[in-house]
Amino acid sequence: MKSLYKITGAIIMLMIISTAFLFAQKPFTVVIDAGHGGHDSGAVGKYSKEKNINLSVALRLGSMIKENYPEIKIVYTRTTDVFLTLQERADIVNDNKADIFFCIHTNATGGSSAHGTETYVLGLHKTKSNLEVAMSENSVMMLEDDYETRYQGFDPNSVDSYIIFEFMQDKYLDQSLRIASLIENQFRHANRYSRGVRQAGFWVLHKSAAPSVLVELGFISNADEEKFLNTDEGKHQLTKAIYNAFEAYKRDFDKKTGISVTPKEMTVYKADLKKDSVDENQVIYKIQLFALENKINPNGREFKKLNDVNYYREGKFYKYTYGEETTFEKIEALRKSIADKFPYAYVIAFRGNQKITVEEALRRK
Ligand SMILES: [Zn+2]
Repeated sequence: MKSLYKITGAIIMLMIISTAFLFAQKPFTVVIDAGHGGHDSGAVGKYSKEKNINLSVALRLGSMIKENYPEIKIVYTRTTDVFLTLQERADIVNDNKADIFFCIHTNATGGSSAHGTETYVLGLHKTKSNLEVAMSENSVMMLEDDYETRYQGFDPNSVDSYIIFEFMQDKYLDQSLRIASLIENQFRHANRYSRGVRQAGFWVLHKSAAPSVLVELGFISNADEEKFLNTDEGKHQLTKAIYNAFEAYKRDFDKKTGISVTPKEMTVYKADLKKDSVDENQVIYKIQLFALENKINPNGREFKKLNDVNYYREGKFYKYTYGEETTFEKIEALRKSIADKFPYAYVIAFRGNQKITVEEALRRK
C-alpha cells in the first residue's frame, strides 16, 4: 500500500511539474484580425475597399511586432482575401488563448466630412453614432447562411438586441481600455485626428476571451482619408502608432508578471551616449532600427551603410539604434530620411539612462 501512495504521489508531482512547464512555455500571443474579406468588402470608398486596407495594416502590425519581439506568437485570422464569420474570428482568439486581440477596421458614414480614428472596447454604446458603427460592423453576420441560429437570435440591426451589452461583465475591460487609450494617444502623436476611445457592442469582441480592441483607422468615405489610407506612408504611420501602443502595454504587462523584459534589466552603454548628454533629466530621442538576440558588427550590411549605429540591451535583446537628438521634430525628420531603407524603424526615448515612452518624453518638453 505504501509504495502505491508513493507512486501516486510521484505521478501527481509529475503532473504538477509538467502543467507548470506548459504554462511557462506558452508564448505571449497576439491575434490580429483584418476585418471583412472575400465577398464581404466592408466599407467601400471611391476607389478602394475596407477589406484590403485592413489586411495590409494587420500584416504590417504583425511583422512589426515579430521583428521586435521574436519570441511573441503572432496569429492572423486571415492573411489573404478570404471570408470568415465573426464567430470563426473569435474562435481563433479563444483557441490560441490570446493575450491581446486587435481587430482592424476602416470606418464610413453617409456624409463625406467625418474623419479621424476611433478605438472601441466592448460595452454599451453611449451615443447613437457608436451604436451605428457597431451595427454596421455586426451586420456582416447577415452574409452568413443560418446566422439567426449561430448568433442566438441576435439581430445586428435591431437596437433592442444591444441591451445585452448593458449588464455584461467584461473581466478584460480595464486592460482593453488601457490598450485603446494608448492607441488613440499614439494616433494623436502621429498627427491623426483622434475621435477617442469608445464603447459599443461588437459581436467579435463579445465572443473573444482576451483584452480586445477594435480600431477604426479612418473614414474611407472621406476623400483625404481614403487617399491617406491607401498610401504606404499612411499605412505605415497608422501601423506604427498601434505598434507603439502595443509596446507600452507589453512593457507594463512584463512588469506585472515579472517575466521577460523589464526596464530594470535594461543597460544603456554609457559609452554609446554622447558624454555631454548623460544628464539625468535630459530627454534623448533615438531611432530604433531592429532588435536581435545577438551582437552584430556596427559596420555590418544589416545597417545598410548607416554611420553611427548604436545599441542598448533590453532583456536578452540587443536593440540597434540610429541617431540621437534632443527634440522629437529632429529625430522624426531623421527617421523619415531613412524610412525607405528602414520602413519599420521608429522613435524611442531615454531620460538619463532610463528608457521612457515617447509619450512621456513629449510631456516633459
Ligand atoms: Zn469594418
